[in-house]
Amino acid sequence: MKLRTGDSARQIPPRLVNFCAQCGGPIYFATWSEYIDDHRLRHLWNCDDCGYAFETTVCYPALPKT
Ligand SMILES: [Zn+2]
Repeated sequence: MKLRTGDSARQIPPRLVNFCAQCGGPIYFATWSEYIDDHRLRHLWNCDDCGYAFETTVCYPALPKT
């Protein structure tokens, strides 16, 4: 296994952050994630700043059958 050190570590993009749809505050982790089918996931987000909750759906290509 190769460790990432030095300049290569800086090439990693920052972690994606979701933002509250109500107040715009950052939300770093989904409260709940749910598998829908072979190419969709649903995430539930709760804002610590204002208490607002909302869902997002992530769609991605279905994985090839093995
Ligand atoms: Zn909020």
